Amino acid sequence: MGLKIALAGNPNAGKTSLFNRMTGASQKVGNWGGVTVEIKEGNAKVNDEPVTIIDLPGTYSMSTCSLDEAAARSYLLEEKPDVVIDVIDATNLERHLYLTVQLLELGIRPVLALNMWDEVKTKGIEIDIPLLGKLLGVPIMATDGRKGDGVERLLATAVDFGHQKQTVFENKVQLKLPKEIEKAIDTLSDHVGTFYNGNNPRWIAMQLLEHDKAVEIMFSQIKNDRSVLDLRDTIDKQIASLFGETPEGFIAEARYGFIAGAVKESVKVEVKINRIEFSEKIDSVLTHRFWAYPIFLLFLWLLFQATFKLGQFPMHLIELVFSWLNSIASHSLPAGVIRDLLTDGIIAGIGGVIVFLPNILILFFGISIMEDTGYMARTAFIMDKLMHRIGLHGKSFIPMIMGLGCSVPAIMAARTLESKPDRIKTILLTPLISCSARLPVFVLFAGTFFPNHAGNIVFLFQVVLGFSAFICMAILFKHTLFTNSEDYPFVMELPPYRLPTFRSILIHMWHKTEHYLKKMGGVVLLFSVALWWLGAYPKSRGIEEKYSIEIESIKNDKTMSDDGKKTALVKCENEKHASVMEHTYIGTIGKMLEPLVKPFGTDWRGAVSLATGFVAKEIVVGSMGVLYAAGNDHSDNKQGLRQKLQKVYTPLSAFAFMLFVLLYTPCMVALVTAMRELKDWKWSVFSVSYQLALAWICATAVFQIGTLLRL
Ligand code: GDP
Ligand code: MG
Repeated sequence: MGLKIALAGNPNAGKTSLFNRMTGASQKVGNWGGVTVEIKEGNAKVNDEPVTIIDLPGTYSMSTCSLDEAAARSYLLEEKPDVVIDVIDATNLERHLYLTVQLLELGIRPVLALNMWDEVKTKGIEIDIPLLGKLLGVPIMATDGRKGDGVERLLATAVDFGHQKQTVFENKVQLKLPKEIEKAIDTLSDHVGTFYNGNNPRWIAMQLLEHDKAVEIMFSQIKNDRSVLDLRDTIDKQIASLFGETPEGFIAEARYGFIAGAVKESVKVEVKINRIEFSEKIDSVLTHRFWAYPIFLLFLWLLFQATFKLGQFPMHLIELVFSWLNSIASHSLPAGVIRDLLTDGIIAGIGGVIVFLPNILILFFGISIMEDTGYMARTAFIMDKLMHRIGLHGKSFIPMIMGLGCSVPAIMAARTLESKPDRIKTILLTPLISCSARLPVFVLFAGTFFPNHAGNIVFLFQVVLGFSAFICMAILFKHTLFTNSEDYPFVMELPPYRLPTFRSILIHMWHKTEHYLKKMGGVVLLFSVALWWLGAYPKSRGIEEKYSIEIESIKNDKTMSDDGKKTALVKCENEKHASVMEHTYIGTIGKMLEPLVKPFGTDWRGAVSLATGFVAKEIVVGSMGVLYAAGNDHSDNKQGLRQKLQKVYTPLSAFAFMLFVLLYTPCMVALVTAMRELKDWKWSVFSVSYQLALAWICATAVFQIGTLLRL
């Protein structure tokens, strides 16, 4: 094993960008905090020496409360990486150095990466790197996480630093604290030393004075001895009566004081363009008290219009390719099992899903632009008030928006929430937001049943209804399950607006495509073949013979006109396929499921498709491709899935079907993720069952009421 190099720093400093540059990975970056909530590892080589790079979630401070921050902290404290690279947004030195100072107090000597160096230059800021390095006692490298400038040097420095193993060093950080507080820290750390045999009792004492939760818990767990905490409380009171302020405030102030001093020495600002002012100007419109909401909806509306309209052209192309493949297969292969497997199973299943790849790409293109420019971070800010009103937290809006892409990272993003009830609620609700895997179903049904309003229908399902369901259920939960949850204040960081790089957008899109294609080659293929097989066997000879006789008799009927014969033959063929299908395994399963879906106007094939959708929502469309295409007359492959659906569904039942797809459990992976994050089987069971119940009730209500109104 080589050196372990960890990237730490505030959210949005560019850690993941540097990580990707170092390891060649393509982890998701985003212009907001809370994108990386898990610890990621990657490998790199420096002069043929293998090293491990670790990307940590963002942390503002070592005294922390949210889960992702705590994960970063315990990694630094317990795993003890060989080198810590502290990534800093160099345009915002004062704030980002806070963590650096804390690291130094802890005895961790980082290598500083002054990231965003490109912006430092355009802003006309001059930073005397050697001087700053001397003041802090650490090596410093300037980097550009987007273009990759300076990354190699940074890595080489980090490796050198790791080999020197300089565990003892002179801490240049001298906090200017009043004598009384220094004394109090000494007293407390002496007492801590009798309980705790770690190597930094002074740091622990300071954490206690700062009321750090994790350290408090550690000491409260020492049985029958609250003396450490009691001593801390006494000190708090003493200092407060002396200065009118607790030590906590003094310590933070002293850190900022030290930083301000260091920055003053080493940084010269000669502002050329004022990025803040520029951002503020845009913000006066985009986060306007009133206009913010319609503008946000307008953006999403445009996005989903584009998803549908622009997606159509490549979609037709892919459809053509697949129908061409189908006709080649059916003409060049002899009739038989292999041909049926290929045409009715594989091509129908995969082709049915892959045509939606362009829509998905467009969706992700839009989302990544919104993320990378910094607009998404604003939306959380805009929605904060609304979220509080429905019993949630402004931070919950980030998972909500991430849910538009995929429920899995969205559920994980709930880790950024500090309070447990908020986290549970967010995990329960996020799956209601329609993820990209549901998009194909909506695009298919909207295009088939509402061709004149397809873009709007897609928008309706993908945004309006999903968000409404989220809000309604949030209100319901607020008044039933979570009546006494607290409100936590939060400061949402507003990153400056940035032009996204083409590279980061490509990384985003590639991520999604990769994910989608993998599903295509994996589960969708598997299910298509399985469904085809279940739909082809057992063969019922009796029925086939009965229909063959009937077909022969129609052909030989002299009394019928040619046209009449044709229609009668088609009808007879269709009846034959339906009848054969009903006696296969899938028919039997479907018939069992049918009573469940009948109330909302879906047939047994729809039921089977929905059931396969538990594995992944992409499979729903693939399954429909196989189930509705089965028994396809090979001379006529032109008739696509659309026409077949039109025979089975009405616009009303199609609407109800889409509603069911929107609301029921997203997929296995999301379910497993939710279980893992909730860490409580009762909540997990609740999450699945309430989503199923909600989906069924809504779809049935719409269908039944619509039928009554003769829609
Ligand atoms: P993390 O939260 O620390 O992992 O930060 P990310 O790597 O996700 O980056 C946050 C944002 O800053 C993204 O929009 C990046 O494209 C952008 N970014 C990262 N490094 C640089 C840089 O050196 N210069 C500029 N201008 N932007 C950067
Ligand atoms: Mg990150």
